[in-house]
Amino acid sequence: MARYTGSVCRICRRENMKLFLKGDRCYSDKCAFDRRGYPPGEHGQRRGRKISDYGIQLREKQKVKRMYGLSESQFRLFFQRAERQKGVTGTNLLVALERRLDNIVYRLGFVNSRTQGRHFVRHNHFTVNGRKVNIPSFIVKSGDVVQVREKSQKIQAIGDSLDAVVRRGVPQWLDLEKEKMQGVIKGMPEREDLTMPIQEQLIVELYSK
Ligand code: SF4
Repeated sequence: MARYTGSVCRICRRENMKLFLKGDRCYSDKCAFDRRGYPPGEHGQRRGRKISDYGIQLREKQKVKRMYGLSESQFRLFFQRAERQKGVTGTNLLVALERRLDNIVYRLGFVNSRTQGRHFVRHNHFTVNGRKVNIPSFIVKSGDVVQVREKSQKIQAIGDSLDAVVRRGVPQWLDLEKEKMQGVIKGMPEREDLTMPIQEQLIVELYSK
Protein backbone atom coordinates (compact mmCIF):
# COMPACT_ATOMS: atom_id res chain seq x y z
CA MET A 1 0.00 0.00 0.00
CA ALA A 2 1.40 3.39 -0.99
CA ARG A 3 1.95 5.51 2.06
CA TYR A 4 2.19 9.28 2.13
CA THR A 5 5.58 10.24 3.48
CA GLY A 6 5.60 13.97 2.81
CA SER A 7 4.86 16.85 5.15
CA VAL A 8 1.69 16.22 7.12
CA CYS A 9 0.92 19.92 7.47
CA ARG A 10 0.93 20.20 3.72
CA ILE A 11 -2.21 18.04 3.72
CA CYS A 12 -4.08 20.58 5.86
CA ARG A 13 -2.98 23.38 3.58
CA ARG A 14 -4.04 21.38 0.51
CA GLU A 15 -7.48 20.64 2.02
CA ASN A 16 -7.83 24.21 3.25
CA MET A 17 -8.64 23.35 6.85
CA LYS A 18 -6.98 22.20 10.03
CA LEU A 19 -7.18 18.40 10.14
CA PHE A 20 -5.36 18.10 13.50
CA LEU A 21 -2.89 15.50 12.32
CA LYS A 22 0.08 16.47 14.51
CA GLY A 23 -1.18 16.43 18.06
CA ASP A 24 -0.07 19.27 20.30
CA ARG A 25 1.52 21.22 17.48
CA CYS A 26 -1.95 21.74 15.97
CA TYR A 27 -2.97 23.79 19.01
CA SER A 28 0.20 25.86 19.11
CA ASP A 29 1.30 28.90 17.15
CA LYS A 30 3.57 26.58 15.15
CA CYS A 31 0.57 25.28 13.18
CA ALA A 32 1.50 25.65 9.51
CA PHE A 33 -2.11 26.20 8.47
CA ASP A 34 -2.49 29.11 10.89
CA ARG A 35 0.73 30.58 9.57
CA ARG A 36 0.21 29.90 5.87
CA GLY A 37 -3.43 29.11 5.26
CA TYR A 38 -3.18 28.76 1.49
CA PRO A 39 -2.49 25.70 -0.68
CA PRO A 40 1.13 24.56 -0.90
CA GLY A 41 3.23 24.84 -4.01
CA GLU A 42 4.30 27.48 -6.45
CA HIS A 43 0.75 28.43 -7.44
CA GLY A 44 -0.76 28.09 -3.99
CA GLN A 45 -1.49 31.78 -3.62
CA ARG A 46 -3.03 32.20 -7.05
CA ARG A 47 -6.50 33.65 -6.76
CA GLY A 48 -9.71 32.94 -8.65
CA ARG A 49 -9.01 29.34 -9.62
CA LYS A 50 -12.16 27.64 -10.82
CA ILE A 51 -12.81 24.16 -9.45
CA SER A 52 -15.20 21.80 -11.20
CA ASP A 53 -17.99 19.97 -9.35
CA TYR A 54 -15.90 16.82 -9.62
CA GLY A 55 -12.93 18.66 -8.12
CA ILE A 56 -15.02 19.84 -5.16
CA GLN A 57 -16.31 16.32 -4.52
CA LEU A 58 -12.83 14.86 -4.83
CA ARG A 59 -11.35 17.35 -2.37
CA GLU A 60 -14.07 16.57 0.16
CA LYS A 61 -13.35 12.86 -0.08
CA GLN A 62 -9.60 13.42 0.18
CA LYS A 63 -10.11 15.64 3.22
CA VAL A 64 -12.11 13.04 5.17
CA LYS A 65 -9.87 10.18 4.06
CA ARG A 66 -6.79 12.03 5.27
CA MET A 67 -8.44 13.19 8.45
CA TYR A 68 -8.88 9.56 9.45
CA GLY A 69 -5.56 8.51 7.91
CA LEU A 70 -6.95 5.88 5.55
CA SER A 71 -5.81 4.65 2.16
CA GLU A 72 -8.17 4.85 -0.80
CA SER A 73 -9.03 1.16 -0.62
CA GLN A 74 -9.69 1.27 3.13
CA PHE A 75 -11.85 4.35 2.72
CA ARG A 76 -13.82 2.86 -0.14
CA LEU A 77 -14.47 -0.26 1.92
CA PHE A 78 -15.98 1.92 4.65
CA PHE A 79 -18.10 3.63 2.04
CA GLN A 80 -19.37 0.36 0.58
CA ARG A 81 -20.34 -0.85 4.04
CA ALA A 82 -22.10 2.46 4.72
CA GLU A 83 -24.03 2.08 1.49
CA ARG A 84 -25.30 -1.35 2.50
CA GLN A 85 -26.57 -0.12 5.85
CA LYS A 86 -30.01 1.35 6.44
CA GLY A 87 -30.22 5.12 6.72
CA VAL A 88 -28.30 7.95 5.11
CA THR A 89 -25.10 6.69 3.49
CA GLY A 90 -23.05 9.82 4.26
CA THR A 91 -23.97 9.74 7.94
CA ASN A 92 -23.36 5.98 8.12
CA LEU A 93 -19.89 6.57 6.70
CA LEU A 94 -18.94 9.24 9.23
CA VAL A 95 -20.33 7.26 12.16
CA ALA A 96 -18.40 4.15 11.08
CA LEU A 97 -15.18 6.15 10.81
CA GLU A 98 -15.75 7.56 14.29
CA ARG A 99 -16.21 4.04 15.67
CA ARG A 100 -12.73 2.89 14.66
CA LEU A 101 -10.61 2.07 17.69
CA ASP A 102 -7.75 4.36 16.60
CA ASN A 103 -10.24 7.24 16.51
CA ILE A 104 -11.84 6.29 19.83
CA VAL A 105 -8.54 6.36 21.72
CA TYR A 106 -7.88 9.77 20.14
CA ARG A 107 -11.33 11.09 21.04
CA LEU A 108 -10.91 9.85 24.61
CA GLY A 109 -7.58 11.67 24.84
CA PHE A 110 -5.31 8.64 25.36
CA VAL A 111 -3.29 9.79 22.35
CA ASN A 112 -2.88 13.16 20.72
CA SER A 113 -3.63 12.23 17.10
CA ARG A 114 -5.23 9.41 15.14
CA THR A 115 -1.82 8.52 13.75
CA GLN A 116 -0.50 8.02 17.26
CA GLY A 117 -3.71 6.16 18.07
CA ARG A 118 -3.08 3.69 15.27
CA HIS A 119 0.50 3.24 16.39
CA PHE A 120 -0.40 2.67 20.04
CA VAL A 121 -3.27 0.32 19.21
CA ARG A 122 -0.91 -1.78 17.11
CA HIS A 123 1.49 -1.92 20.06
CA ASN A 124 -1.13 -3.47 22.31
CA HIS A 125 -1.61 -0.56 24.69
CA PHE A 126 -5.41 -0.89 24.93
CA THR A 127 -8.12 -3.33 25.85
CA VAL A 128 -11.74 -3.43 24.79
CA ASN A 129 -14.00 -5.00 27.40
CA GLY A 130 -10.91 -6.35 29.14
CA ARG A 131 -9.41 -8.04 26.08
CA LYS A 132 -6.33 -6.90 24.20
CA VAL A 133 -7.14 -5.45 20.79
CA ASN A 134 -4.37 -4.42 18.42
CA ILE A 135 -6.42 -3.72 15.30
CA PRO A 136 -6.78 0.02 14.59
CA SER A 137 -9.86 -0.55 12.39
CA PHE A 138 -11.66 -2.49 15.14
CA ILE A 139 -15.20 -1.09 15.32
CA VAL A 140 -16.50 -0.37 18.83
CA LYS A 141 -20.15 -0.67 19.75
CA SER A 142 -22.42 0.87 22.29
CA GLY A 143 -21.50 -0.15 25.85
CA ASP A 144 -17.92 -1.14 25.05
CA VAL A 145 -15.26 -0.16 27.56
CA VAL A 146 -11.89 0.92 26.16
CA GLN A 147 -9.04 1.07 28.63
CA VAL A 148 -5.31 1.70 28.65
CA ARG A 149 -3.66 -1.58 29.62
CA GLU A 150 -2.29 -1.62 33.14
CA LYS A 151 1.31 -2.01 32.03
CA SER A 152 0.90 0.91 29.61
CA GLN A 153 -0.60 3.34 32.08
CA LYS A 154 2.77 4.80 33.00
CA ILE A 155 3.63 5.77 29.44
CA GLN A 156 4.44 9.46 29.47
CA ALA A 157 2.82 10.19 26.10
CA ILE A 158 -0.51 8.78 27.28
CA GLY A 159 -0.42 10.79 30.51
CA ASP A 160 0.48 13.95 28.63
CA SER A 161 -2.33 13.41 26.12
CA LEU A 162 -4.85 12.91 28.91
CA ASP A 163 -3.72 16.13 30.53
CA ALA A 164 -4.19 17.95 27.24
CA VAL A 165 -7.57 16.49 26.27
CA VAL A 166 -9.44 19.32 28.01
CA ARG A 167 -8.32 21.53 25.16
CA ARG A 168 -10.37 19.69 22.58
CA GLY A 169 -12.95 18.09 24.90
CA VAL A 170 -14.43 14.59 24.87
CA PRO A 171 -17.54 14.06 22.71
CA GLN A 172 -20.78 13.59 24.63
CA TRP A 173 -21.29 10.04 23.25
CA LEU A 174 -18.16 8.93 25.11
CA ASP A 175 -17.61 8.88 28.84
CA LEU A 176 -14.01 9.32 29.99
CA GLU A 177 -13.00 8.09 33.43
CA LYS A 178 -9.63 9.72 33.59
CA GLU A 179 -8.40 8.16 36.83
CA LYS A 180 -9.12 4.65 35.58
CA MET A 181 -7.74 5.54 32.15
CA GLN A 182 -10.82 4.12 30.57
CA GLY A 183 -13.73 5.28 28.47
CA VAL A 184 -17.21 3.95 27.86
CA ILE A 185 -19.04 4.17 24.54
CA LYS A 186 -22.34 5.54 25.79
CA GLY A 187 -24.02 5.32 22.41
CA MET A 188 -23.45 5.88 18.75
CA PRO A 189 -22.82 9.46 17.65
CA GLU A 190 -25.59 11.33 15.88
CA ARG A 191 -24.77 13.44 12.85
CA GLU A 192 -24.96 16.64 14.91
CA ASP A 193 -22.32 15.25 17.29
CA LEU A 194 -19.79 15.20 14.45
CA THR A 195 -18.83 18.81 14.35
CA MET A 196 -15.99 18.83 11.84
CA PRO A 197 -17.03 20.80 8.75
CA ILE A 198 -17.64 17.88 6.41
CA GLN A 199 -20.11 17.75 3.51
CA GLU A 200 -20.42 13.99 3.26
CA GLN A 201 -23.07 14.25 0.53
CA LEU A 202 -20.28 15.32 -1.83
CA ILE A 203 -18.48 12.04 -1.16
CA VAL A 204 -21.66 10.08 -1.85
CA GLU A 205 -22.06 11.96 -5.12
CA LEU A 206 -18.45 11.28 -6.08
CA TYR A 207 -18.68 7.55 -5.52
CA SER A 208 -22.10 7.34 -7.19
CA LYS A 209 -20.77 8.50 -10.57
FE1 SF4 B 1 -2.59 20.64 10.31
FE2 SF4 B 1 -1.77 20.25 12.77
FE3 SF4 B 1 -0.01 20.83 10.85
FE4 SF4 B 1 -1.70 22.67 11.77
S1 SF4 B 1 -0.06 21.68 12.90
S2 SF4 B 1 -1.23 22.29 9.66
S3 SF4 B 1 -3.58 21.45 12.15
S4 SF4 B 1 -1.28 18.98 11.03
